[in-house]
Amino acid sequence: MRHLEDYEDAISRCFHCQICQAACPVYLQDLLETYCARARLGLVQAVFLEQTLNVTPRLREVMDRCLFCTRCTRHCPAGVPLDDVFALARENLGKQLGEQGRDGGAWTAPDAGVPGPVAGPLKSGLGEIPAVKGPVRARVAYYPGCATSRLFQDTGQAVLRVMSENGVQVMIPEGLSCCGFPAYVAGDLHTFRRAMQENLSILSGLDVDAILVDCASCGMAFKVKAGEVAKGDGAMEDQAARVAEKTWEATDYLNHLGPVAEPGAVAGVWTYHAPCRIGWTPTAEEAPEALLQDIPGAQYEALETTGACCGAGDLFHLRHGELSRSIRTKRLKEIRRNGAHTVVTQCPFCRYYLQQGGSDLEVMHPLAFLARAYGEMREA
Ligand code: SF4
Ligand code: SF4
Repeated sequence: MRHLEDYEDAISRCFHCQICQAACPVYLQDLLETYCARARLGLVQAVFLEQTLNVTPRLREVMDRCLFCTRCTRHCPAGVPLDDVFALARENLGKQLGEQGRDGGAWTAPDAGVPGPVAGPLKSGLGEIPAVKGPVRARVAYYPGCATSRLFQDTGQAVLRVMSENGVQVMIPEGLSCCGFPAYVAGDLHTFRRAMQENLSILSGLDVDAILVDCASCGMAFKVKAGEVAKGDGAMEDQAARVAEKTWEATDYLNHLGPVAEPGAVAGVWTYHAPCRIGWTPTAEEAPEALLQDIPGAQYEALETTGACCGAGDLFHLRHGELSRSIRTKRLKEIRRNGAHTVVTQCPFCRYYLQQGGSDLEVMHPLAFLARAYGEMREA
């Protein structure tokens, strides 16, 4: 397990270019420098490393006013892993302040309808896995995260259906649990590590060509963050590396493999909203357009800005409702301007939150749109 001190060198690489500020959806909304990524990094440095400032509830307020979108990390030319530093800072704050200064409590009891973590083994409830059509081209394991297992089963059914149509044999391993990413974001790295240990011990032993996820955050957890929390534990590091190597977002995997099934016609204009946390695999942002643009009748209209945030950010939208809604309003305006009725995205949180603000739109996973083009789906 890493500590903030392990990031001292990485933090010192910052040369104050402010590119992370320009990428930060929170800063872009309220234009307050206190809440931009670089300012947060400086505070972490002063409080926890140089110890020239004290831990106060106000610091918690500043650190919590962050979507954990990871856009600062993605854009930093010096490679400063800002989100890892912020997660550790949140962990330290939790230890020193408890719930003091926290607006809205810990990530344990999300409101009804919010895609939240599921305690215990995931029960996918996706029904039978359809038989593969034609020759088997690949064998994969599918990790249906908490949101797909509990709330958006249509996404899971679509993944199974689309894979079967394209010669991909899918298995869903027994005993999987929440990937733990919500705990990571909240700074509860101990819970995240424990969740990862359970999942890695199952996934790393599978003899499959790939491990598919349908959620940008689950993918980031397996591809990037598992390796971070495994550092120093040789056995876990090995497991994390094996799983990371095989982890793919499902749309990206099918695009990489090459689809063979012919889609039928679907009428309407659609667009793609790239989730902020999809950065662990840049090709996943290209996959929806590449896979779906040949659906007869469906017209693709790209959004003006790629990668703009929807404003949800786990509990952020509950803790900072007004700010969160104003970020969403900006995104929805852009979607409406381009005339799309259907929005595809690989994040159940973006789906939930955009749909909540845009009842005139339908928001779905890209493979659900493709499944529609393959014919009728079972109801979730
Ligand atoms: S994670 Fe996102 S919201 Fe938080 S500081 Fe970085 S860019 Fe801003
Ligand atoms: S983008 Fe990186 S180098 Fe530039 S100010 Fe932000 S943290 Fe520092």
